[in-house]
Amino acid sequence: MRFLRIFAAISKRIFFAATAKLIFNSPVFHITILGSGSAGNCAVIESSGCRLLVDGGLSAKQITTRLASVGIEPAMLDGILLTHEHTDHVSGLRVLCKKTPIPVYCTRLTAEMLRKEELALHPDVRQFQAGAEFTIGDIGVRSFSVPHDAVDPVGFTFHCGSESLGFLTDLGKCTNLARERVRRVSTLVIETNHDEKTLQADTRRPWSLKQRIMSIHGHLSNAAAATELVGLLEHGLNRAILCHLSRDCNSPELALGEVRARLDTVGAREAVEVYCATQKEVSPRFAIRSS
Ligand SMILES: [Zn+2]
Ligand SMILES: [Zn+2]
Repeated sequence: MRFLRIFAAISKRIFFAATAKLIFNSPVFHITILGSGSAGNCAVIESSGCRLLVDGGLSAKQITTRLASVGIEPAMLDGILLTHEHTDHVSGLRVLCKKTPIPVYCTRLTAEMLRKEELALHPDVRQFQAGAEFTIGDIGVRSFSVPHDAVDPVGFTFHCGSESLGFLTDLGKCTNLARERVRRVSTLVIETNHDEKTLQADTRRPWSLKQRIMSIHGHLSNAAAATELVGLLEHGLNRAILCHLSRDCNSPELALGEVRARLDTVGAREAVEVYCATQKEVSPRFAIRSS
């Protein structure tokens, strides 16, 4: 029954895709993953009137260089949104914002954690409560709490015109709240942190650390992310960007293999474009477009 529902939804989308492409010829916003993995995370979202970074976990030099590859200078940024205070999301902030005090948006508790160091001298920190919705330029931002071992971690959805994008990284479990928030996005950036078997077989990690990663306050596995993606098919998802892969316990081949295999089981491989972001390479610049 579920298969039939998904099949019907996909067929309907394919049927209307050609017409939609003719009508909506110009996409309204884009996302580029500047780098993602256990060593650092940073992405840029752009509309015609606004440019936002999501996290700043690469070195300031790398952020600047990688932004330049998509034609953006730090001074052109309208804001930096932070998901949480872990180093792999904030390590470039202090240097990046030294010359150009780009407004930083984060929750109050996250700001308090970062006031000691990364945001110590920052003159423009704009605090919000987890769950808040606000607008930066022509981009609508909705935040929501996620379970992770940080003080006040959040995920985001971004909205521009009629298009929307979900950003779901660093969470041990996809809660009903998170699932509800990303339900209608056409592109979802989702964490595929580890391959469960590779993590369990890893002899270098102590048991306690493995437990933390696998706990509800840890990170999503390839299998857990694949389950969420299949659940979103009937709501219009057409692209998944896999991110935040563990260097030791995952690979793009494993993550892509698991997700594509799961999409195959419901006949949806062709309906969803799947891309895996890496630590070293800047991703293509993806146009957010429902189809
Ligand atoms: Zn992280
Ligand atoms: Zn984290």
